[in-house]
Amino acid sequence: MNKTLKQILAGLSVLIILPTFLLIIFQITSINENEKLIQDVYYDQLDAILFSINQYSQDVVKDWQVNASNSLNINESNKTKIENLFSNNNTIKCLFVLSDDKSLILTKNIEQNEFYSEYLENLRPEINKSTLSLNKYNKQGYNKIQPIDLNYSDSLQCLIFLLPDSQNLKNIFGVIFNKEEFINETLAPKFQEVIKDKFVLFVKNRLDSTSIYQSENVENKSTAIKKALWIIPSYEIGILLKGETIDELTGKRIGYNVFLLLATLAIIIIAGIFVFRSINREIKLNQLKSDFVSNVSHELKTPLALISMFSETLEMDRIKSEEKKKEYYSIIHQETNRLSRMVSSILNFSKMEAGKREFNFSKNDINLIIQQILDTYDYHFSSKGFSCKFDKQDLSIIKCDKEAISEAIINLIDNAIKYSSNKKMITIRTGSNNNSIYFEVEDYGIGISKEEQKKVFDKFFRASTGNIHDTKGTGLGLSIVKSIIEAHNGNIILTSTVNEGSIFRILLPIN
Ligand code: ADP
Repeated sequence: MNKTLKQILAGLSVLIILPTFLLIIFQITSINENEKLIQDVYYDQLDAILFSINQYSQDVVKDWQVNASNSLNINESNKTKIENLFSNNNTIKCLFVLSDDKSLILTKNIEQNEFYSEYLENLRPEINKSTLSLNKYNKQGYNKIQPIDLNYSDSLQCLIFLLPDSQNLKNIFGVIFNKEEFINETLAPKFQEVIKDKFVLFVKNRLDSTSIYQSENVENKSTAIKKALWIIPSYEIGILLKGETIDELTGKRIGYNVFLLLATLAIIIIAGIFVFRSINREIKLNQLKSDFVSNVSHELKTPLALISMFSETLEMDRIKSEEKKKEYYSIIHQETNRLSRMVSSILNFSKMEAGKREFNFSKNDINLIIQQILDTYDYHFSSKGFSCKFDKQDLSIIKCDKEAISEAIINLIDNAIKYSSNKKMITIRTGSNNNSIYFEVEDYGIGISKEEQKKVFDKFFRASTGNIHDTKGTGLGLSIVKSIIEAHNGNIILTSTVNEGSIFRILLPIN
């Protein structure tokens, strides 16, 4: 890798990839923190819902408390109000007022009085204990409702309280109600209001986990938030998200966000590689172009120097022998031809690059074109010590641009001469396949490695191996051949082995 490329790579990494990478790492860590925060907020929300339910149930009882305390007195009771309280609240089983010496017990059916007075007798020690704390709260202005529960498996719940602003703090008021009925009749409508199709709410007995209420059937309640019911301490109420749990949801969101970030990183890396590769290609092309300029200058200098030297000698009339003169004229002629071929090949190339080269198609016999080239090249071959074999088969007449095809053939023959080593021989063959005719130029020279065979048709490309740099060239010949053949809808097949030689076969369609 050359220095410029290394600098570009370092620049790309420092300016784009590294900061993006760090940003993404930062984002991934903060996603976890954010999701944790969302999770906490969410759990707090569930907690708040349970709190509101507890608050609501306490409000219901407070209502009873107000109604009962207004209508109950140890000496008399407001019968109609009490009856109304019983009939409006099916769950209330007994109301009572207790004092040190007397007690008033009211039930829906008078026959049950005995049962409840016995029931209260059992609770009496516990009630007495709680009275002290109720008094304390009362003095501070808070009218507390105290649940009394001896037996969690009991279906009844007793609540005691003092009269608000009571002068006689010895009178304890109370209510006994059915726990399950309270949940299913009094609280259930509130539950429905709260869950709104988003949550599952359930109430169960804390002692034996029996289900008291469930808004929907769910198997796994382990992710639920649970709280004790304030007025029924033996029950707990739980809430969870319907469908996926919050953990599953946040897990999914984290996965999705991380995937997005990694995908972004991948895209940036791919884009980086893409940019790097195109810059690399541009740099290589620039290198090839600057090689081309120096090659062309070198190629122009040699024939110009020869022409100048020989024409000067002739002009000064220093050469006396006619034979020598002829030889000098011939060299000047050859070098001029070489120059003009080179100039026209560069011109053709630039026309092709600009898409301006026009082809004039006419009916031609490829054998004839090759024969004409060989006739003019005869002297060239023998002067360089080459022998050329033309192995031809009868060919169909095809439509082609004679001048362009000749240029392609001359380029291939020129290369065969340039890149031959000791075996100075060239074979030219023609023939036909199904729908095409072909001609090929074979040499027995330095050959082309497998890797470079793919590149030889690229513009400005010159192989790096062998004695190539002693050989003159611009790196344009084969790219011109390729363009000409493509314009004829033809194909080039290159078969070559290093140090054994190469065959360039051109296929041209018959129609
Ligand atoms: P150049 O002006 O360098 O000959 P070309 O486009 O004609 O440019 O060829 C490109 C490269 O392909 C050459 O530099 C040479 O390395 C390789 N090449 C072309 N023809 C032959 C051949 N017959 N034998 C070996 N190498 C060849």
